[in-house]
Amino acid sequence: MYILSAGSQKDHNPQFEIFNGEQTSHSEVPARIDTIEKALRREKFQIDKTFSPVPKSLLLKTHKVDYVKFISQASRELKNNESLYPSIFNMGRGQGVTNSMTKMGNFSSDMYTPILPSTYKSAFESASIAYSAAQKLQQGKIQKGYTLCRPPGHHATSSLMGGYCYFNNTAIAANYLSSYGKVAVLDVDLHHGNGTQEIFYQRKDVLTVSIHADPRFKFPYYTGFVNETGEGLGKGFNVNYPLAEKTGDKKYQATLEKALLVIKKYRPTYLVVALGLDTFIEDPIGFFSLTTEYYQKMAETIAHLQVPILIVQEGGYNTEKLGNNAVSFIKGMIS
Ligand SMILES: [Zn+2]
Repeated sequence: MYILSAGSQKDHNPQFEIFNGEQTSHSEVPARIDTIEKALRREKFQIDKTFSPVPKSLLLKTHKVDYVKFISQASRELKNNESLYPSIFNMGRGQGVTNSMTKMGNFSSDMYTPILPSTYKSAFESASIAYSAAQKLQQGKIQKGYTLCRPPGHHATSSLMGGYCYFNNTAIAANYLSSYGKVAVLDVDLHHGNGTQEIFYQRKDVLTVSIHADPRFKFPYYTGFVNETGEGLGKGFNVNYPLAEKTGDKKYQATLEKALLVIKKYRPTYLVVALGLDTFIEDPIGFFSLTTEYYQKMAETIAHLQVPILIVQEGGYNTEKLGNNAVSFIKGMIS
């Protein structure tokens, strides 16, 4: 299994998020990467740290130019310990905005996703490792790859940051691969992959399938329902599987098998897995009851598709056990 990580994706270190008017501790912490890398090394997996920057053209195929520019400029303008949170959201056309705080309301969907001086660089490196591994997959140098992306990406739409996500690493990899064949994205993060859905909603060359917590009760609340099936040319190429609280290994497996049948029928050239490990029973912001052992079976089931697979790390917030869960999944991929 080819494994790729970066360096500065750990520099992005938000101190708090704002929930119901209160500052609460931020769940998306650099320790997430440390715990995964430590567990991988313990199991003697090699971690590559060499990668190419994601080309501008690919970044702009996935995100709107004003959005990318804003993240870059806002990160650059902040001083050492400063951070930028939106205080008001765009309800009009965003005309005449002057300061960064107001501008940020054009590009944000929540108050959990601040910009810090290091955000652009970290998000850019996170996107770059997803791109670099996708390139190796496309060139046939690897059959399976896993990228330790952080910050995560699947909640970032073409022009909105949110859910701790800035650049949609999964969508960037899928967009790259879509130039070479049909791509299926399977999102197994606890939360609906709303950004990935939005980016490919009108396309049929990228099938998006997401298994997640019922959005009536869990973030991102406004998307992830069964009747969101795509639009225009993309009609029928977006499939959502919302599941109830405390969904365990057995029920999850049955849903995964259904989702994989849809993917198999689509006959993709490549599969991109958005791997969130916040489905874990002990995840601090969780909702499901999956076990460490199950991640191995989940991966084995996915690997049966026998197509080149890129795994992109998304969520997962139990910093003590996240590494074990990632290792369990990777072992399933290679068994
Ligand atoms: Zn998640």
